[in-house]
Amino acid sequence: SPAMSSGPVWEYLRRLLEETSGISDGKVADYIPELAKADPEDFAIAIATVDGTVYSAGCDEREFTIQSVSKPFLFAHAIETHGIGAVLRKVGVEPTGDPFNSIVLDDLNNRPFNPMVNAGAIAMAEMLAARTPDARQAELLEMFGKFAGRGLGIDEAVYRSESETGHRNRAIAYMMLNSGMIDGPPEEVLDIYFRQCSVGVTTRDLAVMASTLAAHGRNPVTGARVLAPDTVRDVLSVMATCGMYDYAGQWMFDVGLPAKSGVSGAIIAVLPGQLGIAVYSPRLDSVGNSIRGVEVCKRLARDFSLHAYIDR
Ligand code: GLN
Repeated sequence: SPAMSSGPVWEYLRRLLEETSGISDGKVADYIPELAKADPEDFAIAIATVDGTVYSAGCDEREFTIQSVSKPFLFAHAIETHGIGAVLRKVGVEPTGDPFNSIVLDDLNNRPFNPMVNAGAIAMAEMLAARTPDARQAELLEMFGKFAGRGLGIDEAVYRSESETGHRNRAIAYMMLNSGMIDGPPEEVLDIYFRQCSVGVTTRDLAVMASTLAAHGRNPVTGARVLAPDTVRDVLSVMATCGMYDYAGQWMFDVGLPAKSGVSGAIIAVLPGQLGIAVYSPRLDSVGNSIRGVEVCKRLARDFSLHAYIDR
């Protein structure tokens, strides 16, 4: 952690971590065997502001896999690579109300409902520009690295574990081959998807990634322009309605911020124009969201009046 870690925000975050570290409900994801090895007590919070300051508490430099928090960034990358029109032929923007791994397409267009659930994310994975496995991995890591402001890598053990057991995702990919939502061999698309979920990040990385969305596409730490503002608008809209799976409505009601969660126990949330939030705690509720993560975001929203629809 940085040397200069004192001041009211740092102290607030340490206290918040302490106050919520007694929560021990929920269960570490184990359907991907390698994820079950996570320490259930790991806990970190980070906030990155649009002026490039990163505040954090807990095991803020511990790496874990990004899992579904990768999805908004792949969606953004697809929009920037192909344009929103081409992207919307492969994925909708409608919440499902169903679990993230549902084997379902909308029966009007045969599209996955949205890019925040597995089906939509697998369709987005095929929209990388590169054509060979090595080049695709390089494209993925370059893209994530711009958001995080540092070089990232793949956790090979999680990648292998997920690839060996991801048969439900295979079912989704074959269903989409049948409906024309993917064109290539499902195993090639799935390989990208499993790799994107296995990128190693820290809680501080995720806060910087979220703050890049908060800063309308400019990474506040590196100063680099990563996305066009219109892309960010599209991504945040879908995060607001679909980012927390079948908890998305309740989340918007309680916290009021566009967000994304993943089964490793990470959550990011974005207050446009202001800051990005990241929380990591591996124990999940029944829909797959981090229990401490949700509680921390509720308290942050309350204590700093972050909800998008309050009277400012
Ligand atoms: N890799 C995970 C899966 O496909 C991602 C799911 C998630 O984080 N919700 O099952």
